[in-house]
Amino acid sequence: MKSRVLAAAVLICGAATLPFAAEERIDAGVNARIRDEGINRSQVMRTLHFLTDVYGPRLTGSPSLKAAGEWAVKTMEGWGMKNAHLEPWEFGHPGWTNDLAWGAITAPVKDTLVLEVVAWTPSTKGIVHGKAVNIVIPDQPTPEELAAYFDTVKSQVHGAIVLVGKSRFVPVNLSPPAKRTADEDVKARYDPNNPNAGQRGRGQRGGRGQQTPKPGAVPARELGSKIDQFLVEHGALVRVNDAGREHGQIIAFDNTTYDPGKAVPTVVVRNEDYGRIARILEDGTPVELEFNIVNRTYPEGRTAYNTIAEIPGSDKKDEVVMLGGHLDSWHSATGATDNAIGCSIMMEAARILLKLGVQPRRTIRVALWSGEEEGILGSQAYVKEHFGSFEAQKTEFGKLVGYLNIDTGTGQLRGASVFGPPAAAATLREIFAPFQDLGIYGAAPSSSRVVGGTDSTAFSNAGLPGIGFQQDPIEYNTHTHHTNLDTYERVIEEDVKKAAVIVASAIYHLSMRDDMLSRFAPGDMPPLPPARGTQ
Ligand SMILES: [Zn+2]
Repeated sequence: MKSRVLAAAVLICGAATLPFAAEERIDAGVNARIRDEGINRSQVMRTLHFLTDVYGPRLTGSPSLKAAGEWAVKTMEGWGMKNAHLEPWEFGHPGWTNDLAWGAITAPVKDTLVLEVVAWTPSTKGIVHGKAVNIVIPDQPTPEELAAYFDTVKSQVHGAIVLVGKSRFVPVNLSPPAKRTADEDVKARYDPNNPNAGQRGRGQRGGRGQQTPKPGAVPARELGSKIDQFLVEHGALVRVNDAGREHGQIIAFDNTTYDPGKAVPTVVVRNEDYGRIARILEDGTPVELEFNIVNRTYPEGRTAYNTIAEIPGSDKKDEVVMLGGHLDSWHSATGATDNAIGCSIMMEAARILLKLGVQPRRTIRVALWSGEEEGILGSQAYVKEHFGSFEAQKTEFGKLVGYLNIDTGTGQLRGASVFGPPAAAATLREIFAPFQDLGIYGAAPSSSRVVGGTDSTAFSNAGLPGIGFQQDPIEYNTHTHHTNLDTYERVIEEDVKKAAVIVASAIYHLSMRDDMLSRFAPGDMPPLPPARGTQ
């Protein structure tokens, strides 16, 4: 480890007293200037505005995602970054956008429905009207049970608008979760002396609606496609799904075949509308619905792009500190908390360093990924292309200090999980130490090589130091993550300015230290997890 050197700047400017780390050289003078620029002259909300209001939503393969990347390239070049470019990778599916969608109940009452369209589904043929039919697939059917059920309803679906599934009852939540994590909980999580510390980061969240699988049942992932196929074959006009969430929140994902020919026009309506229609049908009263949906596909979207830009290093310029987040979003809103803000914070961190005119020793590289929502595809393609993996190393494998990622919304940064031995987390903990007043309390080591949750896991999976920040939840899981409510308004300016300050300091110090970040010794590298299916 390195000798303890107090930066001269500390003595000169007498910046705030800092809890000096045992080993890391912390430049208090640079930290003070980073705070000043990041808090008093921030550009982070301007960046967010462009990425959301002007270029959102940013579905992978869509023209707006490419335009967002081009804007980011131009903007980062304007700040003085070098080697800014869009880097292609093969998505292999067409781009898709929804250009217009409305739906209404026309009988026995008239009212507009609140809805979102499922990605990679087709348009309606103009305005379509039909009677509403509610089919309720048996729970976890075997292929035989499913076929038998389809037989009982196939005569009803032709020319109909088909509500798929029983309407979900969403009770009033009398004990909503806290929007911020208590300081004591964060401190305990990142206390190196706490045996239960750490090991809880992105990538270990539970999946959606996990159920113990029934032996012989059609896998959940296939069930949706089988229902789509049945509706196409029997001439349904529109498929309607229940959003199943409170207060009009809607999450609309994708037709997982990416082939609009394999589904009927499909919408997710808010739970309140779905429940209303289902209850009227249960009374025995016929319901008539009407829809008009215009979607488009873009063959050129088969090639997608990651957005890359650099601050070149000096004496160690062939070594790289990376930071980023995914620029792609789902399509129901403008993808502000997931994840335009993560991209905006990382761009802002680089901007702050450029503005200060500091010269990093190592190259600092911003990467804004695509294809994250479809399975962390863009970052995995990049890692494979540039670094390989521990098991199949390319030359650059040994040159990456680490990759810092933000992808959990607007909340203050509270700590980070660092793929590597405890010494790697200790380095980050020391770099973060001067920022406890901004809410960050440390870093914890991780040994998980599972791909999932977010892009830092593409690096960890390859055996590289993936660093994922943990944030205050704010409204991420309760309101904005993947929903139709994920907009600019949901971002807390104060929190994200602080985040950019912390990240700027972290990348600066990682770029300046004499050594790379500690990695697992070859004999200690955790084994790759067993291969899994798609995300
Ligand atoms: Zn995300």
